[in-house]
Amino acid sequence: MSDLTVTTGPGFSTLHNGLQELAGNNSSTIQEIPVQNEVFQKTETPPADVLKPAPVVSADSEETRTYRKLLDAATDARLNAYAPTSHYLVGAAILTKSGKIYTGCNTELTAYADHGEQVAIGKAQADGETEIVAIALQCGSEGKPLGFKPESNAPCGNCRQALFECNPDLKVILPNGPEGMEVHTVRDLLPVAYQRKREPWNNPQVVEEHFSDPLVEEALIARSNARVPRSHYPVGAAVETADGRIFRGSKIEASSFSSQAERLAMANAISQGAKDIVRIAIVGGNDPHKGETPLNMTWDSFQAIAQVAPNAVVLLPDETGEFIAHSMREFPSFLVVNTPKPG
Ligand SMILES: [Zn+2]
Repeated sequence: MSDLTVTTGPGFSTLHNGLQELAGNNSSTIQEIPVQNEVFQKTETPPADVLKPAPVVSADSEETRTYRKLLDAATDARLNAYAPTSHYLVGAAILTKSGKIYTGCNTELTAYADHGEQVAIGKAQADGETEIVAIALQCGSEGKPLGFKPESNAPCGNCRQALFECNPDLKVILPNGPEGMEVHTVRDLLPVAYQRKREPWNNPQVVEEHFSDPLVEEALIARSNARVPRSHYPVGAAVETADGRIFRGSKIEASSFSSQAERLAMANAISQGAKDIVRIAIVGGNDPHKGETPLNMTWDSFQAIAQVAPNAVVLLPDETGEFIAHSMREFPSFLVVNTPKPG
């Protein structure tokens, strides 16, 4: 019999005796090793090997150049982050299968915080780009030099789950030093991901009679691009800034979070450096011929709009599907009407 190595611990003597029996009572083949109890002690800093070793990417290849470009886009996107609470700025850049790059940054409001990954995913989703192949991240405290450490740039657990649900083989590019980078897959970063099979859901498509107002049209397109495997209730939003630019947001449901359409539309604008939102259109429901005021429009949405765009005109469909302009002053009473009553 080959040598046995035994780690002692509770019940060791029983195990020891059993192994001696197995080894034919040849105790010379059994070593006792003290228990390494410190393994179970809490530590303040994560272990250095929290990330698996990254696959090697050759120093100069088309793939490397693409990832470098993506990392640079994340670095630029970080500068638009809105982080008055944490002062920790996150830039994210997503590469889609079609070769497009979408950027996002974290948006911290009183009611919630959307992470940079969420915003970048949301921007791609609102454009109908659902096949995501890579994401790069660049994070760091406001006003301080970038740390370029992979562990402080790695996506949080919630975002790993959401990214996994986009594409388990998604490449995650993290900086390692000012010039270096690491390439992981989200499958490696989340080894036992939560998985549940859900029925695909086809959202209502845009029909032509809604095209009178471009903002409404964009909100309806955003609704058609929503990803709602849990509720099957798509919502789309679009915001218009003072200079006439329009930004979309589509509701996204992942197992680890839901991102509301109006939040993502506002975050989309903020991540492009546009903060002067003057109009917002929001539409929910599954009727392709008309929309409805989203059933799930709650206080955090109201709070977010009040914070980001207190003077904005908010367009919501009435029961016939016609979009009605509201001012923010109407919203408290309006929300009470549309909030599900307890019981
Ligand atoms: Zn996150």
